[in-house]
Amino acid sequence: MLESSVVNIKGVGEKFAEALQSLNIITISDLLFYFPSRYDVIEILPLEELIHEDRVTIEGRVLNTPSLSFYGRKKSRLTFNVEIDNIAVKAVMFNRAFAKNQLKIGDVVTLTGKWDAHRLQITVSNYQKGSMENSTEIQPIYSVRGEVTSFRLKKAIQQAIQDYSHFVEEILPEDMLLSYKIPIRKDALKTMHFPENRILLKHARRRFTYEEFLLFQLKIQILRKRNREVSLGNVVKFDTEKLHQFINRFPFKLTNAQAKSLQQILNDLKSPYRMNRLLQGDVGSGKTAVAAMALYAAVTANKQGALMVPTEILAEQHIQSLREMFGDLAQIELLTGSIKGKRRKEVLTKLENNDVHILVGTHALIQDDVHFHDLGLVVVDEQHRFGVEQRRALSNKGLQPDVLFMTATPIPRTLAITAFGDMDVSVIDEMPAGRKEIETYWTKANTFDRVLNFISKHVEQGEQAYLICPLIEESDKLDIQDAVDLYNQLVAYYPPSIQVGLMHGRLSSAEKEEVMKDFAENKVQVLVSTTVVEVGVNVPNATIMVIYDAERFGLSQLHQLRGRVGRGDKQSYCILIADPKSDTGKERMRIMTETNNGFELSEADLKLRGPGDFFGTKQSGVPDFKVADMIHDYRALETARTDAQEIIEFNLLESDPKYKNLQLFLENEGVFDTVLD
Ligand code: ADP
Ligand code: MG
Repeated sequence: MLESSVVNIKGVGEKFAEALQSLNIITISDLLFYFPSRYDVIEILPLEELIHEDRVTIEGRVLNTPSLSFYGRKKSRLTFNVEIDNIAVKAVMFNRAFAKNQLKIGDVVTLTGKWDAHRLQITVSNYQKGSMENSTEIQPIYSVRGEVTSFRLKKAIQQAIQDYSHFVEEILPEDMLLSYKIPIRKDALKTMHFPENRILLKHARRRFTYEEFLLFQLKIQILRKRNREVSLGNVVKFDTEKLHQFINRFPFKLTNAQAKSLQQILNDLKSPYRMNRLLQGDVGSGKTAVAAMALYAAVTANKQGALMVPTEILAEQHIQSLREMFGDLAQIELLTGSIKGKRRKEVLTKLENNDVHILVGTHALIQDDVHFHDLGLVVVDEQHRFGVEQRRALSNKGLQPDVLFMTATPIPRTLAITAFGDMDVSVIDEMPAGRKEIETYWTKANTFDRVLNFISKHVEQGEQAYLICPLIEESDKLDIQDAVDLYNQLVAYYPPSIQVGLMHGRLSSAEKEEVMKDFAENKVQVLVSTTVVEVGVNVPNATIMVIYDAERFGLSQLHQLRGRVGRGDKQSYCILIADPKSDTGKERMRIMTETNNGFELSEADLKLRGPGDFFGTKQSGVPDFKVADMIHDYRALETARTDAQEIIEFNLLESDPKYKNLQLFLENEGVFDTVLD
């Protein structure tokens, strides 16, 4: 019934039905669940509480016969006075000449419009004779377009509710409604469109917020469970003894958080399920060390490992540090876009013959002609930079390898639950002991000289500095010019004892490597760079990070950049140079100076920039909820997640009759037919 076309609704013709399609409204159900995008609350307030320039509603008695004047072509202005609490207020109405004869002295009128508190005047956009039924009225506002006007849409919805809402079945079990104190579906639906008061509206919204979250979480959990079931037979039988020996090679003891994460990963490797795990941890929290141990575990099981990173610089850095960690325990090779021809063939042949145990590289790792002998574990670093496509291609390589995604951008819990709800998550929320907090300062561009002085002082003490220029737009030539200009400026400013280097995306990888090497060996003391150094670069002797035009970066990105320093035992500094114009911009700089905690920052970033921006793309896998708001309704999200987990874990959809309607609903939505990646 509800799935039939909207043309079945009284008063909705073929033409209007077609127009509704532009709003994705096809069935009666679509129309019923086309909720208002917001609500205007109309409330009659005493005059002294009205705010200048607000849209207000007032009620009064007409004092005089309205006077009408014409101007321009066909334009008119109607003015009259109304009395409210013994005060005369002037009402002005444009282009409604017809109202002149409707308004008689002594009539009670309700006027809505823009309030001018200085002139005691209202510019009326809406009027109604008589009083409002209630002193507060909530008007739903729908987003409409083209031929679908609010008026027609509301009428159609009203009709649909009258004739069809009794077909709307409850999908949640009764005890849940009772314990959460939420209204039944049909009633909540009516309230969303025709709210009687704020309290009822609040509960209706609460209901649909929970419902949306629960359905979404159920979908994820169902997928996850099926994913586990189809990917059995994926056991990595690693050698515990050898692994322990490897762990003991490291010059430090793992933090508790590292040890726990490693254990979780090892359990996944051992289990027949395919690992799909996210390893989160702030910059420098020691993720790479954990990943190396997991990779080695795979190697001891005679499986191959792969480490995939977003840039060539990082790939080169990683292979270097992995080779140091492994010594001759594993053959490690590099595969990037710049490895071509004969060299590339060589690597590929060795890979197929199992003479390479760990392959490190960029996207080049997932090209068609790359064949592993037996790929057991793939580690993807900074996974938010990889698109869904790459993830899929990677997953399809080899024999369903276990996959570990690592990210140093702490993902707010809210987003982790929604965007990555189908993953297991390990968190390294503890820094290795003895790290000094980075001191962060925010300063304006006109104090740049002082910043340069600050750098010289520290360089004289043997330390090094980064100076980062933002990319205005990737592949834009001008932005590199910025870095080049700054570089020239510094070369002229500093004496020869302070060597300045330049790094940007247009250098060849040999040139980049050269620059990085010089910096790592302290042949260059000040490195001017675009954001190519953002992720993973490790030069412990660098103690100063200066970020030029810092307002152009997101908080998470600033935090990433800041993480390039504070890697040694000396006190490190981050200096943000920014003249933000907006309050949000200032707020962001302030937050940076106040916390070093990546999770706090990412939550703040999410609030300031919204989820769409968080991953730098709109295609972040975060669903568009109609009613729910991930940030404000966070508690509901957690509840829904726990409930969904219980329902799926204990098979309640099938086994408990009270979930029958929910099960049917999900079936109708095609949730059980979804194709797996
Ligand atoms: P991440 O990959 O999370 O940014 P890394 O694994 O690169 O962090 O570690 C950052 C630095 O800290 C490296 O120099 C590493 O050797 C060191 N490190 C890692 N774990 C520990 C630990 N438990 N104790 C002391 N130092 C550690
Ligand atoms: Mg790292």
